[in-house]
Amino acid sequence: MIRRLLLLCLCLPWAAAAQVPAPTVAITFDDLPYVSVPAEDDAALANMTARLLQGLQTDGVPAVGFVNESRLYREGSLVPARVDLLRSWLRAGLELGNHTHSHVSLNRVPLEVFQADLLRGETVTRPLVASEGRSLLWFRHPYLHQGKTADVRTAFAGFLAAHGYRIAPVTVNNSEWVFAVAYARAQAQGNPEAAQRIANAYVPYMDAEFARAEALALDLFGRRIPQVLVLHANALNADHFGALAAMLRQRGYRFVTLDEALQDRAYASPLGAGGIEGESWLEHWARAAGLRPAQPPAVPGFVVQWAGPAAYRGY
Ligand SMILES: [Zn+2]
Repeated sequence: MIRRLLLLCLCLPWAAAAQVPAPTVAITFDDLPYVSVPAEDDAALANMTARLLQGLQTDGVPAVGFVNESRLYREGSLVPARVDLLRSWLRAGLELGNHTHSHVSLNRVPLEVFQADLLRGETVTRPLVASEGRSLLWFRHPYLHQGKTADVRTAFAGFLAAHGYRIAPVTVNNSEWVFAVAYARAQAQGNPEAAQRIANAYVPYMDAEFARAEALALDLFGRRIPQVLVLHANALNADHFGALAAMLRQRGYRFVTLDEALQDRAYASPLGAGGIEGESWLEHWARAAGLRPAQPPAVPGFVVQWAGPAAYRGY
């Protein structure tokens, strides 16, 4: 009997661990080739991109980067060095997606205008992706605005399907971009102490965002679901993605591709027509189910102050 009990004790933790796979997260970056950097010269951008990609590769993180082709231009001219930044994402084994040409909102412009901007947004990216033997598959809505009426959403879904795109959802929406604006400003003003203080507040803030998303998934589905995180291609992540990845590992996460994350049946859930503009898929699902998502964690006041008026504009 004692031996049987002992065996049970020895086996159960192992059996439990085997039955519960590690939670997963897919990482995505918006506003490529860059946003919120202290300097925009070609050398600084190449350096920033190299550090960001190095961080992803060190942590073995598959990611999708969503491009705004308007950011490839300077004073109306295409900048080859910025196209090279996109090429370096592909050569690092990462994927690229379409985030429209000029970061327009589907809630603010007519559907035809939005669709034309989206197609303009693949002018450089589609041949570039093809030249690296890959395909352009993903689309991410700017501001997570998905269209205000069911008619627009249905028509746009048909348009995306006709052009071979899949929608890239977000379940962990967050204010990382406010920290990034603050961080870039502190650096541009030659204040590394303030930049460090902002970076130190970034990871605990994201930890709280993940706790919130996990709690919402548990309320809705009674289990953990693969999360999809949105970040931006900025100096903050170029310098501190490693600390963010360490926090995620601490929470038990394994990094997966977007395609793998979306294979979970949770992503077949309808979004519902209601919800608040720019909320995550989890928040939309929650409202459709009659749940009210908890308030997001607050961005510390000193970070908002460093970000300045841009903190209220949104990305
Ligand atoms: Zn964006």
